[in-house]
Amino acid sequence: MNEFDIISRYFAPLAGEGGFGLKDDAALLPARAGHDLVVTTDTISEGTDFFAFDPPDMIAQKALRVNLSDLAAKGAQPACYLLSLTLPPTVTQDWLSAFASGLARDQETFGISLLGGDTGAGEGPLSIAVTAFGFVPHGKMVKRSGARVGEAVYVTGTVGDSGGGLAIFKREKHTLSDQDRDYLAGRYRVPQPPVSFAAELHAIARASVDISDGLIADLGHISSASGVRIVVEGEKVPLSAPLRALWGAEALLRAVTAGDDYQIAFTAPLGLSGPFAEIGWVEQGAGVSLVAGGHEIAVPRPGYKHF
Ligand code: ADP
Ligand code: MG
Repeated sequence: MNEFDIISRYFAPLAGEGGFGLKDDAALLPARAGHDLVVTTDTISEGTDFFAFDPPDMIAQKALRVNLSDLAAKGAQPACYLLSLTLPPTVTQDWLSAFASGLARDQETFGISLLGGDTGAGEGPLSIAVTAFGFVPHGKMVKRSGARVGEAVYVTGTVGDSGGGLAIFKREKHTLSDQDRDYLAGRYRVPQPPVSFAAELHAIARASVDISDGLIADLGHISSASGVRIVVEGEKVPLSAPLRALWGAEALLRAVTAGDDYQIAFTAPLGLSGPFAEIGWVEQGAGVSLVAGGHEIAVPRPGYKHF
């Protein structure tokens, strides 16, 4: 199959309004009155962000969702995306078909459609680049730089589950039930970004970031962009029961430095409740510190780094 056969067979059925059936040079993205367009891109690569043996539909979902978490963290509702593929010769038609079905499923779940992309062959590992577009009411994008002294720090979901799943795939020894093992492995393969929370987020948050490299590392981005110090109370960090079962006494420190969560950490006024947990506060100073049992805990490696 050449690239045009691949595009028309597997990807054209996913094209949305403005994508012209993936038959034009470019797509059209209609403006939405009263809104700003929020744009983000993220690439996932075999061997770094997923395993070659992962189910192709789940790889597709991960490629989309690592972008949807960025949009959600900015308070934006997702609308559409571009898809750029570098395919090694080992990719089969069955693989492409399953990959496209994963995209179709998430398009349905999140109300998004495909606008275009690029398809090329490569000798290197399979690489999937997605550029996602979303809309936020004009002027309401939540930046990293808005945190102020006296606010609370909140996080959605549970922290570290994906890191636990990755540890299991890397054959770390454990005594988990099959159910707990599958839960953590599933979080690594298919992240669960809080996409529907975006609208509430832009109404309450002053600063926000998606957790892709690790809670402490990503809060560090809010800290430096806002010029504040962030204190995380270890006891309040939400950890799932399977993750506690996997990592025991090490669970907190490993969870707050594990990557690939795709949840949202944000600052907002004190005392809010909703689909999130309060885990700390914003004070004067710089950096991020973790306290537990009344002591500051040293964090030798705050998160994942590519280089
Ligand atoms: P060009 O000749 O400009 O390079 P392409 O042949 O790369 O155009 O692409 C033809 C059409 O197919 C364009 O509309 C492009 O957006 C779309 N397209 C190519 N690859 C993909 C893909 N992986 N996913 C979605 N659309 C794609
Ligand atoms: Mg092209």
